[in-house]
Amino acid sequence: MSTLLGTELEALAARDVAPSVSEVVALLQVQGEELAALYAAANRVRARCVGDGVHLRGIVEFSNHCRLSCDYCGIRSRNRKVERYRMEPDEIIELAFKARAYGYPTVVLQSGEDPWYTVERICYILEQIKADGPMAITLSCGERPAEEYRRFRASGCDRYLMRFETSSREVFAKLHPDDDFDRRTECLRAIREAGIQLGSGFLIGLPFGGLEQLAADILHATALQLDMIGCGPFIPNPDTPLAWASLLEDREIYFKTIALLRLLNPDAHIPATTAFDAIFTDGRNQVLERGANVFMPNITPQRYRAGYQLYPNKPCIDEDGDQCALCTRGRVFGLGREIASGPGHSQRKAWREAHHEQA
Ligand code: SAM
Repeated sequence: MSTLLGTELEALAARDVAPSVSEVVALLQVQGEELAALYAAANRVRARCVGDGVHLRGIVEFSNHCRLSCDYCGIRSRNRKVERYRMEPDEIIELAFKARAYGYPTVVLQSGEDPWYTVERICYILEQIKADGPMAITLSCGERPAEEYRRFRASGCDRYLMRFETSSREVFAKLHPDDDFDRRTECLRAIREAGIQLGSGFLIGLPFGGLEQLAADILHATALQLDMIGCGPFIPNPDTPLAWASLLEDREIYFKTIALLRLLNPDAHIPATTAFDAIFTDGRNQVLERGANVFMPNITPQRYRAGYQLYPNKPCIDEDGDQCALCTRGRVFGLGREIASGPGHSQRKAWREAHHEQA
């Protein structure tokens, strides 16, 4: 590929037609000056399209019980080494109130796929949080019947996060002994149809398909026109069937993926996901400088954190919400960025027009 200029890269953000897999593969291989140009272009597009504010979304990991056994995941049901925990609804609600006290306009409630949390229990949690005052709520608790997503929306769920993990039907089948690509896709559609802002994404660097597969994942995330794109490095967990896998040799690929997602999805919210800190020093800071605009401080009480280790070397295991709140502010201000105000709803044009929101 000839030397890429920043303007050519930024033009990607304005293109109506998506690039081809081979174009994305070429971009994933840039080095040296071209790599610096890619990161700089992603940072400029981020600043221009979603601003300098970093949206804070406090995350509560409320249960590590999971009915599924995804081959990469530390809390898979077949991992007998995990000490399982489950928070009571009222404890989750109290933590959401704490999120407000920390100044987080959004609380993200995440768990394994735990059927103990019936639709009634989840709706109770949503309603109690909403009754206390303004707070945007993101749920991330897996695949449910379409009717449940509609009830979540009616009870106050603003956003839902569920990764498609890989855009390859074959790879999905290989890694998910008890799940199905079409079912996952159908859930994503049902979430959006319920009027919930949709977040999805994939694991960067799964050990199948190489750069072509990664390029296809980037293009799939783009084609879904997501309100939020959450992707992080796949980190092999020794207690899972993918223990044999390794991290990508070219570690820059993890950041290149985020930069390309920003160029192709200028208006999407893109979080600097926790897994970046597990393999890079200040990894999340680096992602914020390469296209990301969202940070998710952990508010899970310290006593539960060791139980929610999806991958090794997860950061902040020995800390609690207070420490993460302090650290987060230091990171954002240290980068010369500001903390965004407001709920941080979707910036997508279609969503804003439908909801009469300003950019
Ligand atoms: N149950 C919900 C779901 O599946 O959407 C949310 C919880 S699930 C544990 C959250 C995410 O953790 C998954 O979407 C997956 O991408 C990520 N994850 C699991 N194992 C991982 C690993 N070894 N490395 C990096 N991320 C991992």
